[in-house]
Amino acid sequence: MKIKLGLLYGGKSAEHEVSLLTARAVTQAINFGKFEVYPIFITQTGEWRKGNALIGPAETIEELQFGGGSNRPNNITKFLPVETTNTNIEEKEDNANLDVIFPLLHGPNGEDGTVQGLLEVLNLPYVGNGVLASAAGMDKVVMKQLFAQAGLSQVPYVHFIRKEWKDDQTELIRKMEESLKWPLFVKPANLGSSVGISKVSNRQELIKAVEIAFKYDRKIIVEQGIVAREIEMSVLGNDTPRCSVAGEVLPTKDFYDYEAKYEDGTTNYAIPAVVSPELLKKLEDAAIRAFKVLDCSGLVRADFFVSENEEVIINEVNTMPGFTPISMYPKLWMESGLSYSGLIEELIELAIERYEEKQ
Ligand code: ATP
Ligand code: MG
Ligand code: MG
Ligand code: MG
Repeated sequence: MKIKLGLLYGGKSAEHEVSLLTARAVTQAINFGKFEVYPIFITQTGEWRKGNALIGPAETIEELQFGGGSNRPNNITKFLPVETTNTNIEEKEDNANLDVIFPLLHGPNGEDGTVQGLLEVLNLPYVGNGVLASAAGMDKVVMKQLFAQAGLSQVPYVHFIRKEWKDDQTELIRKMEESLKWPLFVKPANLGSSVGISKVSNRQELIKAVEIAFKYDRKIIVEQGIVAREIEMSVLGNDTPRCSVAGEVLPTKDFYDYEAKYEDGTTNYAIPAVVSPELLKKLEDAAIRAFKVLDCSGLVRADFFVSENEEVIINEVNTMPGFTPISMYPKLWMESGLSYSGLIEELIELAIERYEEKQ
């Protein structure tokens, strides 16, 4: 019997469009001999709809959103693995009794434990990190506090919420100028894809950047900028996670911003990264330590800075990293000998393994 796989994509976050590309790529790579795919689209306003198979050509974002087909509003109960009482015949046919869900969602309301909590309550196996790891990994401040606990090196930073900024902006700026060296990176605490991030070199730019970041979050983190290599590691597994080869991001502009990630093609990558065996060992140790301290499962991409004297400094982890075939996470596995389809299958197996272990 085929495994009924629900693909959850779209979503309310600023990374909505990235998720659409991921969903299409995953659908195209799935072994239809083994899996029956049920696309579930979440609109930008948070409505759940049933998508058609995401396999045809799609020219526009709108076509991708609905899988190039029906945009019938749909009710979440259709995806529940239980009999619902007042369904008509057509709805009964829609009722999939899904075996496993792959949440292809990035950012808040997807990568942050909220959807994972829903899937826990629905008693459905799902790919990737659970509630705790997703939530802790989404909040850059909480994540950093846990990393510190695990003895991982990090850049100095300051964090505050909107109210604190409103109440005493002058004091916060004083604190930042005292404890951090310019340039600074201003970030919303909970986001990804570099959305809302600015690099600033003076007080005026800092104030503007803080206002921008507050458009995305009520909590902000301001980090000391570092001149370093940017190296990323893919981690895969549950209780015995393993690392891929290392990958290096080589931005040709100021930093690895949203456009550099998805739009302007200015970024170069070295896959695998040229690293000494000693450095690779340090990166692997740190990546696994980060995976464990957040109690991750399934997958994580750990992003590091490597300073001139080869100190490994963790920047962040992503609990649902970019996942198109040209994204770093899958590419590092391909380079390590695991194909994109193979990776998807392994992640689904890990999801089922984790679910069964809990029963
Ligand atoms: P994603 O989840 O897509 O990896 P993100 O939105 O979580 O990204 P970060 O990875 O924290 O954001 O930062 C984005 C980029 O900004 C980094 O890849 C790096 O190029 C640059 N950057 C961030 N923080 C610093 C820093 N403290 N010093 C130097 N560069 C930085
Ligand atoms: Mg991130
Ligand atoms: Mg991210
Ligand atoms: Mg990053």
